[in-house]
Amino acid sequence: MSFDRFGRNINYLRISLTDKCNLRCVYCMPEDMTFRPRAELLQDDEIFRLVDLFAGLGFHKFRLTGGEPTVRANVVDIVHRIAQTPGVKTVAMTTNGLLLDRLARPLAEAGLQRVNISIDTLNPEKFKKLTRWGDVEDVWAGIHAAREAGLKIKLNAVVVRGYNDKEDVVDLARLTLFQPWQIRFIEMMPFGDVASFQQAGIVTQEELLQTIGDTLGPVSLVDGGALDGEARLYQLEEALGTLGFISSVTQPFCATCSRARLTADGRLRLCLLREKEVDLLTPLRAGASDEELAKIIEDGIWWKPWGHGLAQDVIPLNRVMSEIGG
Ligand code: SAM
Ligand code: SF4
Repeated sequence: MSFDRFGRNINYLRISLTDKCNLRCVYCMPEDMTFRPRAELLQDDEIFRLVDLFAGLGFHKFRLTGGEPTVRANVVDIVHRIAQTPGVKTVAMTTNGLLLDRLARPLAEAGLQRVNISIDTLNPEKFKKLTRWGDVEDVWAGIHAAREAGLKIKLNAVVVRGYNDKEDVVDLARLTLFQPWQIRFIEMMPFGDVASFQQAGIVTQEELLQTIGDTLGPVSLVDGGALDGEARLYQLEEALGTLGFISSVTQPFCATCSRARLTADGRLRLCLLREKEVDLLTPLRAGASDEELAKIIEDGIWWKPWGHGLAQDVIPLNRVMSEIGG
């Protein structure tokens, strides 16, 4: 088992399979984003070696993310290999859903259990505005395919003031009256070049609960406010599903954080909102032994940060969100 210096058991690894994406969400990356050359990214066999090492250190939950994980070649084979790794209990994915129409079934057959699908609004024009390139119908096709394939589904919406903070939030919340889904509203986080846009557009949990409650009626806390992963859950009266709020900026959940991140270029990122990273790619390519790599990972985890520095204007500048994976 892996512990950090605060006694947190770190057992959940989020792997960014690529920094590339078939969308350009306004809160995630600039439209003219430049991506890393393929040679700088972890190759399949390098990912598998690291997964074996992390599993050996007690990591049992793995989530594939990006950029957009479904645009990575061999994504189905990658899921299959990770799902077969001794010690791995859960393989999940966070995706924009655009390619799930054809990939949901093979991914489920390969061992994928859960998908979190991003859908920030049900309104086609606003969806296009938020994602710059996307068609919300493609996401719906992906959601249906995921359901047909038996994948467990959560929906993610990043809320941006002036884009989707009013009726869009209500429309998404209304879905939980008829569907057993968890719809999670994510507070926008500031990164790199897009930090000032993100900071100006943040909408807090209190504001969202007020907006939803004003139209759809009373919203009550589920499980006394215990976190489900990173989300605090609420429920509308007689709803089949739940509303999750991921408020990493205003209500960080550091005490229960069990995650580490592997960036597409092979860095171990210890906290989404802190720049601190440990390079695994260079020693891996320089021929480090399994023992040496495991030691580098364990040392990195030991120094996992606690708390972000946004109140002190310490904003992570070394990457945008698509390079870390959310
Ligand atoms: N492309 C996939 C997707 O959009 O679901 C996976 C990668 S994306 C970086 C992972 C998650 O991060 C998504 O739910 C996305 O909405 C969220 N995200 C992106 N930029 C964000 C930001 N600035 N603040 C908070 N969440 C963000
Ligand atoms: Fe792509 Fe996901 Fe970022 Fe949108 S949030 S640009 S879909 S990586």
